Amino acid sequence: MPELAERLAAVRAEIADAARAASRDPDELTTIVVTKFHPAELVRELHALGVRDVGENRHQEALAKASALADLDGLTWHFIGQLQSNKARQVRRYSHIVHSVDRPALVDALARRDGDPLDETTEIFLQLNLTDDVGRGGVTPDALEPLAERALAAPGLRVRGVMAVAPLGEEPRAAFARVRAASDRLRLLAPDARAISAGMSGDFRAAILEGATHLRIGTAITGSRPTAR
Ligand SMILES: *Cc1c(COP(=O)(O)O)cnc(C)c1O
Repeated sequence: MPELAERLAAVRAEIADAARAASRDPDELTTIVVTKFHPAELVRELHALGVRDVGENRHQEALAKASALADLDGLTWHFIGQLQSNKARQVRRYSHIVHSVDRPALVDALARRDGDPLDETTEIFLQLNLTDDVGRGGVTPDALEPLAERALAAPGLRVRGVMAVAPLGEEPRAAFARVRAASDRLRLLAPDARAISAGMSGDFRAAILEGATHLRIGTAITGSRPTAR
C-alpha cells in the first residue's frame, strides 16, 4: 500500500511537471490507471488514494471487477482493449467510456437500440492504428473520417476524440504528432471531439507534449502486472 501511494504520487508529480513544460494546465489531463490483470482489491486501494478513472482491456475481467466494486462511489470504468462486436452491449453496461472503437460494426453494436434507456450515452474514442500491421487494433488514419461520420450519426454515442498506442520502434513524440494531426482532422467534423487518449507508462511525457488529454498508465503506478489469470 505505501509503495502504491508513492508510485501514484510520483507519477502525478511527473504528469504535472510535463504539463507545465508543455505550457498546459495539469487539471485538463485525466489519468486513467490501467488495472488489467490486477485483482479488484488493487482498484479498491487506488480508490482510497483518490483514483476515480480505471482502465481494463478484457471484458470478462472488467465485468467481474466492476461488479465486485459496485459499492465504490464515483468510479469510471474505461474500456481500452480490442472489443468484439458481440460483447459490445455488455461492455456498455459497466464501461462509461470505450477507447477502442475502430470499425463500423463496433459503432453499430455500441449504438443505442430500441428498448434501451433514452438517456444512456456511451462516450467513445476512435482508435487509430499507427502501425502497418492490420492485426493491431485501430483504424488506419485515412479511414478515420468515414468511421467518425458513422459514429456521429449513431444514437447514444458521444465521440470524445481519438486514441492511439505508440508503435514500437518509432520515437513516441513523432507518433503522437501523427495522432494530433488526426485529432485536428476529426475536429473539422466534430468540433467538440477534442480529447486525445494517448500516453502510457513509458511515453506519457511525449504524449502530453503533443496534446494528450487522457493518459492510460499501468505499470508505473501499479507495479509490474501479475501474469494473466
Ligand atoms: C496495458 C495498456 C496500457 C498501460 O500500459 P503500461 O505500459 O502498463 O502503462 C495503456 N493502454 C493500453 C491500450 C493498454 O492495453
